Amino acid sequence: MNVLVGGVDSPVRSFRSVGGTPIFFESGRGAYLVDVDGRRYLDLVGSWGANILGNAPNSIVAAVRRAAARGLTFGAPAPAEHELAERIRRAAPELQRIRFVSSGTEAVMSAVRVARGFTGRSRVVKFAGCYHGHSDGLLARAGSGVASLSLPDSAGVPPSVVRETIVGRYNDSNGLAELFERYGESIAAVVVEPVAGNMGVVPAEASFLSAISRLARRHGALVIADEVITGFRLRRGTIHATLGLTADLVTLGKIIGGGMPVGAYGGRRAVMETLAPIGPVYQAGTLSGNPLTMVAGAAMLDGLDPPAYVRLERTAAALAATLETVAEQERVRPFTVQRVGSMLGLFFARGPIADEADSRRASRKRYARFFHAALDRGVYLPPAPLESAFVSLAIDRRDLARAEPAVRAGFRASRSGSS
Ligand SMILES: *Cc1c(COP(=O)(O)O)cnc(C)c1O
Repeated sequence: MNVLVGGVDSPVRSFRSVGGTPIFFESGRGAYLVDVDGRRYLDLVGSWGANILGNAPNSIVAAVRRAAARGLTFGAPAPAEHELAERIRRAAPELQRIRFVSSGTEAVMSAVRVARGFTGRSRVVKFAGCYHGHSDGLLARAGSGVASLSLPDSAGVPPSVVRETIVGRYNDSNGLAELFERYGESIAAVVVEPVAGNMGVVPAEASFLSAISRLARRHGALVIADEVITGFRLRRGTIHATLGLTADLVTLGKIIGGGMPVGAYGGRRAVMETLAPIGPVYQAGTLSGNPLTMVAGAAMLDGLDPPAYVRLERTAAALAATLETVAEQERVRPFTVQRVGSMLGLFFARGPIADEADSRRASRKRYARFFHAALDRGVYLPPAPLESAFVSLAIDRRDLARAEPAVRAGFRASRSGSS
């Protein structure tokens, strides 16, 4: 068990921020996960949003089986890549050209490189609380104050790299205007989650998104909409344009791989064609466009017709209502649910939460007690506060009704001890 660093391959899995030791899962089917001791849990994490159809949907498993029998990787072009790209473009026509990679991290890192190559500029603006994967330059959040040149969030990231990253405050249009005043001529791109899903769930105000579009255009910077979570989660396609953000580049991941490792980025043809082999920006990958991933993604998209989003909305609204009602009945205050479609942010804090500073006010200790009491009764929530919970299409009202006692126990536990 100790060969893996900290026992895990990704730190948030370690239960570090809620205490205790992680559950080891053996299988998953539909709405439920089963651990190595045979205990069942209602899955409200969905592999961090990737499993929007639930666990191991028959259609995806069958597609992957068939593809596996034909070959696991070619390292050469194959029809499945073009088919998934076509399907994505039909749902999100602004992705005139697409490139597949193997993770969301790679997608955003590469989109930033393209933006720098296209504009010939070096600085990137991101917002505190937004996560864009773990590439060096994007592992930075805000210092104090409205906005500041940033310090690395991680050891091993040279300050010289993060110096090219400017961190603004989410939902702060004036702050962004000031950043553009100061650094406008050197800003290659603004990267933003159109709905933040990595500081709990924090919707962007329409005026903030339109300010990003306006300021970037005026100063000759590109806009990168990071839709690694929101792409195909909130509607069939991307969400940024619906919310009022005009983007030059879009990043995708999670859902579009059907549960296999994936990332993709795309956008305006003129911008994307700065990429090799057409243009001078280099980006490559041995397993990029992997045939199993491509067919899994296509099968996933087949399961996501417009009525699917209506169903998701209903289930997620019912879950939010249950959480709010039970919290009220158990006199848990403050407690706030922020929901956008099937993404739910649970905050033991007074709402609304509009940026990272707000999200930090939420009680971590209360969340940890809530989490463990619910877990003991068979409900698997994100094992860290300030992570989004996700509803899948495999979850129905009966599952939610069955989960209510666990949620109630969670709220009761949250009240005990210190806050
Ligand atoms: C998950 C996520 C990423 C990183 O994707 P990985 O596949 O984990 O590398 C990037 N951006 C956002 C918004 C994400 O939620």
